[in-house]
Amino acid sequence: MIYFQSLTKEELAELLRPVSLPKARRRYVPEGAAASAEEAGPSTEDLLKAERRARYRAQQIFHWVYQRFVTNWDEMSDLSKDLRVWLKENVEIYRVTERASQQAVDGTHKFLWNLADGKTVESVIIPAALQEKENPEQDFDQQRFSGAAIEDKDLKSERWSRLTACISSQVGCAMGCKFCLTGIQGLDRQLQAHEIVGQVFELRRLAPITNIVFMGMGEPLHNFENVVKACKILLDPDGLNFSKRKVTVSTSGLVPAIEELGRQADVSLAISLNASTDEQRSQIMPVNRKWNLDALMSACRSYPLGSHRRITFEYVLLKDFNDSLEDAARVLRLLRGIPSKLNLIPFNEHSGSEFKRPSDETVKKFQRYFVDRNITATVRISRGRDILAACGQLRSIFGTARGTERHRDWKSNSGAGGGTAF
Ligand code: SF4
Repeated sequence: MIYFQSLTKEELAELLRPVSLPKARRRYVPEGAAASAEEAGPSTEDLLKAERRARYRAQQIFHWVYQRFVTNWDEMSDLSKDLRVWLKENVEIYRVTERASQQAVDGTHKFLWNLADGKTVESVIIPAALQEKENPEQDFDQQRFSGAAIEDKDLKSERWSRLTACISSQVGCAMGCKFCLTGIQGLDRQLQAHEIVGQVFELRRLAPITNIVFMGMGEPLHNFENVVKACKILLDPDGLNFSKRKVTVSTSGLVPAIEELGRQADVSLAISLNASTDEQRSQIMPVNRKWNLDALMSACRSYPLGSHRRITFEYVLLKDFNDSLEDAARVLRLLRGIPSKLNLIPFNEHSGSEFKRPSDETVKKFQRYFVDRNITATVRISRGRDILAACGQLRSIFGTARGTERHRDWKSNSGAGGGTAF
C-alpha cells in the first residue's frame, strides 16, 4: 500500500499512467510474438492519451482529498469504477489519530497525534485575533493582556484573522538546543512526508487554517526530503493550496540545507537565532559549533526572497543571558542587509531547563530598541500558557501512555508553557 499523502500530484499521475491506458492495451505482448490488433501493446498515441488522462485523474483525486476532505474512494463519484477499485487496492489515505488535545483560554489548541507505529507527535493551532493583525507591533502590555481568557474559542469563528498551524517534522530532535524540551528528549525518528502532510490534513478538517509553520517538534532541515515533498503538496493549487508566503520553514541553522531549500522549495524562512555572539550561541545551540553566525547570516543573505518577503528571526529571551541592550545592538548588526523581522519570545520556564524568563520590563526595553530603529519586532506571548505549550511538553506527558485521552480546557497546568516554538 502507498500512502496517498506521500505523493505529489506528479508522482500520483505517474502511478496512474498504466491504469489510464485502454484496458485492451494494458497487456504486455513480447516483441516478435504474434498479436492481434486487440492484444497489441500500447501505441504512442495510446501512451500520450494515458498520460493526459492520468494527469487529469490525479488532479481530480487531489481535489477530492485535499479540498473536499473526502477519505473514502467510493464517494469520489466522478472517478470510474475501475479506478476506484484500483485505488482501494493500492493507495491508502493516511490519517493520524488524536491521542490527546488541550485548548487554552486564549484559543490556542494543542494536539498529540498517534502515528501508525505507536509514536506520537504534536501540532498546535494558534489563532490570532483581528486586532493583532491590525497592529502587529502593539505595545507589549496590550499583547500581554490579549492572552486573557476568550469566551468564543471556536476555531471556526470569524473573530480570528489568522489561524496558524504549527507542525512537527521529526519525532523528537537531534539538535540539542539547551532551552528546548524536545531537544532534551533527543531524536527518535524522521517523519515521512505523509505524516507531515497528515497533520495539516487533520487540522485543516477542523479549522480554516491560513498559515503553516514548521516550528513544532524537530529540525525540519534535518529531514530535508520529506519536508520539501510535504511543502510541495501544501503549496499545490490542487492540493492544500497554501500560498508560499504562508508556509514557513524554521531552522536552527543547518547552513547547506538552507541553501538547498532556497533552490528546491519556494517557502518562507525563519531562523532560530537566540544569541548575539558565537560564544553565546554555541553554549545553547550546538549547531553553531559547526556553522557559526557568519556562515548562517551569509546563507540568509543569499536566500532567494521574492519581493516584499522577509526572513523571520526567532529570539528566545533568556534572563541575564541574551537579554541586554548590548545583545540587542549586536543582533541589529547581524541583521544588517537582510530583509527581516524579529520575533521575540520571552522564555517560558520548564523543569527541564535552568534558564529563567526575563522581566516584562526587560522584554519591553529589548523590543523598543528595535522598534525605535524601524525594525519590525514583535513579542510573541507564549500562547496557551495554561496548557503544556512548549514543544515536546504534551508528548512528554502522554507520549508513552496508552489509549486515547481527551483533555479539553485543561486549566490546571498554569505554570507550564514556553520553549521555542510557541
Ligand atoms: S529548538 Fe528546535 S532545533 Fe532546537 S532542539 Fe528544539 S526542536 Fe530541535
